[in-house]
Amino acid sequence: MAPQRPATITDELLARLVSRVPSTAGGSWKLTEVYSGELLVELPQSTPDDISAAATEARTAQRAWAATPLKQRLAVFERAHELMLQNQHVIADLIQAESGKTRRMAFEEACDPVMGISHYLKRAPKLLAPKRHGGPVPVLSRSTEVHPPRGLIGIIAPWNFPFATGISDAIPALMAGNGILLKPDNKTALSPLYGISLLEEAGLPRGLFQVVCGEGPDVGPTLIDSVDYVMFTGSTNTGRTIGERAGRNLIDCCLELGGKNPMIVLDDADIDETVAGTLFAVFGNTGQICMHIERIYVHESKYDEFRDKLVAATEAMRIEAAYEFGPDVGGLVSPDHLERVRSHVDDAVAKGATVLTGGKARPDLGPTFFEPTILEGTTKEMLHGTLETFGPVVSLYPYKTVDEAVTLANDTDYGLNASIWTTNFKRAEELALRIESGNVNINDGLATAYASKATPSGGMKQSGVGARHGDQGLLKYTETQNIALLKKQVMGPTKKQTWDDYARQMQTSLRWMRKLRIR
Ligand code: NAD
Repeated sequence: MAPQRPATITDELLARLVSRVPSTAGGSWKLTEVYSGELLVELPQSTPDDISAAATEARTAQRAWAATPLKQRLAVFERAHELMLQNQHVIADLIQAESGKTRRMAFEEACDPVMGISHYLKRAPKLLAPKRHGGPVPVLSRSTEVHPPRGLIGIIAPWNFPFATGISDAIPALMAGNGILLKPDNKTALSPLYGISLLEEAGLPRGLFQVVCGEGPDVGPTLIDSVDYVMFTGSTNTGRTIGERAGRNLIDCCLELGGKNPMIVLDDADIDETVAGTLFAVFGNTGQICMHIERIYVHESKYDEFRDKLVAATEAMRIEAAYEFGPDVGGLVSPDHLERVRSHVDDAVAKGATVLTGGKARPDLGPTFFEPTILEGTTKEMLHGTLETFGPVVSLYPYKTVDEAVTLANDTDYGLNASIWTTNFKRAEELALRIESGNVNINDGLATAYASKATPSGGMKQSGVGARHGDQGLLKYTETQNIALLKKQVMGPTKKQTWDDYARQMQTSLRWMRKLRIR
């Protein structure tokens, strides 16, 4: 039986949240509670005219926001940091209701914007301060690098981390002085809408952060045509469509896309610790994390021990629908997504893979539950062998040499995340350099890299363009302006000089400036 919906999710709250989605044509979408499959609220759908109007309103608010002193802008986020911590249980309730994930995952997701705020509160004043550089002529010239906001940032977010991708990615953009036009996934619009209400309670001007809702292909084109930059998180296929449109409009974009992430277990790994970490790396968020592990390569000397211990630990996990801490694995986001996961497992089995554990849907637990599944004998002819399954399914493979493991790990079009397990840290850091992946976690599955907010995190190969976090996670939302000053016209020959004299003098000064390291 589905657990009782949390008391925090009242009809009044739901009505208030969806009331900010513009929808003049009156269309709506049935947003359901995942555990029960019951209607939560009718989500208004935005037309192209609604999107254009929302963009205009955000641009008006943005001009005033950009003119607000940085200190005042940042004070809003000081307050939002505390408000988000105080209301974490409501955020987690909404995330769970719309996505079906466990309490642990919903809680950790609710921590993400808080961590981002804290990092950028420290870093933004430095990043946004004008930087003085020397000009080409020492003493007589200088150049100042300035970072004004781009204007209006379009954010298109997926359903797997709706609060993190909807709110966290907006924070550095807002700090830099931009407005936001967010399109969440229809299934998971509630938690970002609630996050925006908290930001406004903290003092964010109304109108600055707009939300429009609808199916991607309906909303996407007008949204992209209305903004100055696109921050997209989602599948590689959609990312290509978004990037094409942004390119045609000559606006920049950041694309955070899919993965088919490998783990390498070296011959010196502590297997008990590796197994414990693997459970989260594979089954965290019911396998719906872009950085989660779907391929595990284990040195042949440790393969049997790892396989047997991982199967036993997987079978001991608690799978359950509950709005409280306890279950290790929750539901998938929707019955449609369950069918995708099931089709990958069925296809693998039909083509000869062995199911070591799991492999079946669990309608007795809820409409979207699927057993944590471990496969052996997976090949590249199988859907799960190459495509992102994005569910609680992983394949195990033995390897003989480290070179072979590297080749296998890199044998994919994706390059988002990889994980290496060993007791020799230096060996792992050297090996990481050989993996074609934007993130490499050593002795962890994924969280350490993602939560290191000071380091940019993005994908290589087909896993993305650009990055979030780190300095570039804020600077990407700004233009770069070069304000150059020449105090006196000194270029070219003086009245007494020939062009040859001038050229010789120029060569000498270039040589000396190099020697003295002035330029
Ligand atoms: P998706 O690409 O189907 O949808 C993502 C968002 O794009 C949704 O809001 C959707 O409505 C919208 N969209 C779809 N078509 C569109 C179009 N033509 N124009 C504009 N918007 C459009 O992805 P999904 O299934 O929601 O999310 C899962 C995928 O996201 C996985 O591939 C996962 O790996 C990836 N992901 C990547 C990261 C990362 O940081 N690299 C993080 C989370 C998820």
